[in-house]
Amino acid sequence: MAKITIDKKEIEFKPGQTILQVAKENGIKIPHFCWHPGLSISGNCRICLVEIEKFPKLSIACATQAMDGMVVHTKSEKVVKSQNAVMEFLLINHPLDCPICDEAGECKLQDYAYKFSTGQSRFDEEKNHKDKRVPLGPNVMFDQERCISCSRCIRFCDEIAKDPQLTFIQRGEKVTITTFPGKELDNPYSMNVIEICPVGALTSRHFRFRARVWDMSFTDSICIGCSRGCNSTIGVRNNEILRIEPRQNLDVNEYWLCDWGRLNTYKYVNDESLRFKTPIIKTEETEKQIGVAWDEAISKAASELNGAKDILFIASPYSTLEDNYTLKKFAKEIFKSDEVVYIPNIDESFADDLLKKADKTPNSNGLKLLGINPISESHIENLKAGKYKIVYIIGDDISRIPESEKFIKKIDSLIYHLSTKTKNSEYAYVIFPKSTYAEINGTFVNFQNRVQRLKPAVVTLEQERLIGEYSISRLDKFGAQNDTWSHGTRFNARPTWKILASIAKSLGHDFKFENSEEVFMELANTIPQMKGWDYEIVGAKGKNINS
Ligand code: SF4
Ligand code: SF4
Repeated sequence: MAKITIDKKEIEFKPGQTILQVAKENGIKIPHFCWHPGLSISGNCRICLVEIEKFPKLSIACATQAMDGMVVHTKSEKVVKSQNAVMEFLLINHPLDCPICDEAGECKLQDYAYKFSTGQSRFDEEKNHKDKRVPLGPNVMFDQERCISCSRCIRFCDEIAKDPQLTFIQRGEKVTITTFPGKELDNPYSMNVIEICPVGALTSRHFRFRARVWDMSFTDSICIGCSRGCNSTIGVRNNEILRIEPRQNLDVNEYWLCDWGRLNTYKYVNDESLRFKTPIIKTEETEKQIGVAWDEAISKAASELNGAKDILFIASPYSTLEDNYTLKKFAKEIFKSDEVVYIPNIDESFADDLLKKADKTPNSNGLKLLGINPISESHIENLKAGKYKIVYIIGDDISRIPESEKFIKKIDSLIYHLSTKTKNSEYAYVIFPKSTYAEINGTFVNFQNRVQRLKPAVVTLEQERLIGEYSISRLDKFGAQNDTWSHGTRFNARPTWKILASIAKSLGHDFKFENSEEVFMELANTIPQMKGWDYEIVGAKGKNINS
């Protein structure tokens, strides 16, 4: 195999790899602004210049192919001098407004200014001023002064979003990016330019000025917007989700998220007007819904269910494997029932060729693995005929069943696990406030049959109690990596598997689940391809059941 020497280290490489790629794979850091692993090479920022023996001049590592016998220096005097010069050039007109810039704390220019510049400026003249607030589209704001003309955003629109909405105009110090006259940056993936912009020139109109990144915690998660299950990172401050960003997973979403998933999957988690404050029951006397303590709601549901027949259990493609497995076990072990179904959500108009899938739920493949089928016509006919006295539904809205208005009032007792109020929650006999995907440990199975992990990014009242009981050192087990959860609202919610286990216990069945991983390990042993799996095996980037 061909070999290259970088900084005295001899390294084997694959044909076609560039010096930058070989260095990156082998832990040698070469600075780069314009190069991005998901985009074509433009080679315009020049910060990745390296010295190659027998080459007359420095070469850009991002565009120079590695060759057998090549000897490269990334930290020689010549290279350091050129890095200093590039940084000085980039900073001449840069506003250096880090104290008010959203990117500060996660900015390549800021980091490189410390690592690769001389730390001083020889430029005394007035800087070139440009417009600092240019709305490029509904989601992205552009600060012209901060742009270093790397062209990443332009290449993203051309090559990934396949919607060439951005371009450079002008030349020299006047150069800037813009949309075409009368057009906006408004494609379904437009917000990815925010993360790939190596400086604070492109910012989110939804997140701007809301937090400094060092005041936030960041938790690995999975987007719930469709069955792609894009890997994401949830950003939290004061126990409130402020943003969702893509997390690299080359097997699932590469480096990207769609704007729909990024914007529509977290606001409800924070919304006090939508979330329940307590469990809710309907009183016998007044038939009105009132808020009660957890124990009262659990015993109300248990006494209604005790000895009951004609129950339809409705699982949820929005809920985890752990929740749906526990519902199935609950139905089978206590009521000897296999009547567990779910309501699909297929929207062909949502799908595209990049990431978005027509199945707008994160876990319908998980339900298939558990042997839970979509609701059938005969179930709907039975509902209309008033055959089911009790409908037990977790994490979904009964009004998603076609013609629900024809049978909703025929159900004697509707028992719901819900995170937020729905159109029909007023008919419920009992409502258990269910933790959202951002508050739990759990797993989803995406359209590729890849099992992927959720972790708690925000803390509920119950988790706060557990953190107190188990001591601060177990914070990681219950979420919240640092004290960014120590202020802000905590919602009174519990995971579905736990609520079901509490009701089961009242009915004399001890499921013996202490935490979600125990549920996972039990359910994994019921699925041949997942025998012996635990959360560690699933890992940070998920595991395909067929691999
Ligand atoms: S706005 Fe950002 S990504 Fe676009 S060219 Fe300028 S620096 Fe690069
Ligand atoms: S493609 Fe699907 S999973 Fe990915 S960000 Fe969009 S909605 Fe979420």
